[in-house]
Amino acid sequence: MSKLSNLSRSIKGKVVLITGAGSGMGRATAHLFSDEGAKVIVTDINKDRADRVTKEITDSKGEAINLELDVSNKQQIDKTIEEIQSTYGALDCLINNAGISLPSKIDVENYSEIWDKTISVLLKGQVEMIRSSLDLIRESESPRIVNISSTEGFGATPGASPYTAAKHGVIGLTRSLATELGKEGITVNCICPGPITTDMTSEIPEDHKEIYSRRRVPLKRYGDPEEVAHATLSLCLPASSFINGAVLTVDGGMSIKRA
Ligand code: NAD
Repeated sequence: MSKLSNLSRSIKGKVVLITGAGSGMGRATAHLFSDEGAKVIVTDINKDRADRVTKEITDSKGEAINLELDVSNKQQIDKTIEEIQSTYGALDCLINNAGISLPSKIDVENYSEIWDKTISVLLKGQVEMIRSSLDLIRESESPRIVNISSTEGFGATPGASPYTAAKHGVIGLTRSLATELGKEGITVNCICPGPITTDMTSEIPEDHKEIYSRRRVPLKRYGDPEEVAHATLSLCLPASSFINGAVLTVDGGMSIKRA
């Protein structure tokens, strides 16, 4: 009898769709999956960014196509899924990563507008991506859905309630669908990054980042996008077949630090 069964630790040949893949963690995730032999569908609301990342991948002999996709636009989502159906006939991994961060105090005049936009991109966008791609994902031998939440998904920063509410919602969505889709062998997991160096955090002055990291993060630094990408990849491996409904924090230990 062999020591282990033959659960695959490779993502090679899998078809992987990443939203918001033109920058930051999405871009790093696209590169990592490509380096590991996956066929990557690079989508972003910003076509130039998606083009650039796709070219980076194909220039280094990876396999990638790019599609312009605003996750708050249901028609574009359906069109994207149709294109994947006709190009690949399958989807193995859906990575719901696209995001915006629009800080807003509860009493600002345009709060409702910011609320609607934030929820439509961060939460409803993930729901609609899952709903549209489900039939295609059902065809996979190792179907995986990974939703990107945040440490804001279980904590809170003042003045960002739409973002915080949406990210809490992503955890609820993940857990609920993990229970609903588990019987089909589809795993649904979620990652909660802490502070990561990307475009989203680029306007925070470096000295603020340093002070924040020193006080709050046991590893004393911001994370790199690829450090989150590795966590996403792990959840997508065929061998990760019993990880379902997990909320994986990737924050250098920030959320467990008390003093
Ligand atoms: P980023 O700004 O570098 O990348 C986000 C990408 O999403 C951009 O390319 C942008 O064009 C795209 N995007 C924005 N709106 C979109 C839409 N409607 N449809 C499709 N694409 C859209 O940011 P990032 O830090 O890499 O963020 C990735 C995810 O990680 C987001 O969900 C974010 O909320 C989450 N997150 C970020 C941090 C952080 O510290 N950077 C921490 C926790 C969670």
